[in-house]
Amino acid sequence: MNNDLKTGTTNLRIAHLYAHFLNIYGDKGNIIALVKRANWRNIDVEVVAIDLNQKLDYNYFDIFFVGGGQDKQQQIIASDLKSHGHGLKEAIASGAVILSVCGGYQLLGHYYRPHQGADLEGISLIDAFTVAGNKRMIGNVVIERENGLQLVGFENHSGKTYLGKDVKALGKVITGNGNNGEDKLEGVCQAIGSGFVYGTYLHGSLLPKNPHLTDEIIRCALRRRFGEINLTKLDDKLETLAHDKALHFQA
Ligand code: GLN
Repeated sequence: MNNDLKTGTTNLRIAHLYAHFLNIYGDKGNIIALVKRANWRNIDVEVVAIDLNQKLDYNYFDIFFVGGGQDKQQQIIASDLKSHGHGLKEAIASGAVILSVCGGYQLLGHYYRPHQGADLEGISLIDAFTVAGNKRMIGNVVIERENGLQLVGFENHSGKTYLGKDVKALGKVITGNGNNGEDKLEGVCQAIGSGFVYGTYLHGSLLPKNPHLTDEIIRCALRRRFGEINLTKLDDKLETLAHDKALHFQA
């Protein structure tokens, strides 16, 4: 069922998980892009920063966002995120969307094995695991999705993520390392029930320079409470300019 946007009644609710811990390399820019591209369509947005030891009304939110951070920040939040594992799985299965970047992405799998210290247990939302590699993978990245559209971003991680055989990658690596610098896969884009899990190593931040992905996430998230919504087309001149500039950074 296609609904034209009912202005004033349609709103988006975003939970920014560990906003004060996992926000390295400007990952908060993803929240700004989601808010702006929704507001430009008269969709109200409520963003709630979720801290450690905070109760979470899992069914209230349409989008959960978790950014990247160094091993130290990951160690601080890992057990708290684990405590939300069941609730997040249920929320995603009932139609919510999670977008996770780098350190946050790594913790959606079974575990992250850092260089030192014990494994950090993930929430096993996706069948994947990560082990810290010997070299840091740093630089500009271009990936291509199944729909042929390209995503651009910047990676800085030592973790190497390996996806289970039934897990769909966000895209295939054109330039850069992606998940592990070996299998030419980057990120994850996995339907779970009626919701979606997006994970990526692309900082930058990811969404401002990739407007089609931002709109895809907004559409997926709105579906949960409003059904299919036709998002009005925006003038993406600036976003496209930034995207194409980033494409030309590639070696
Ligand atoms: N600490 C993790 C790694 O180095 C994640 C880093 C990040 O979030 N940029 O792989």
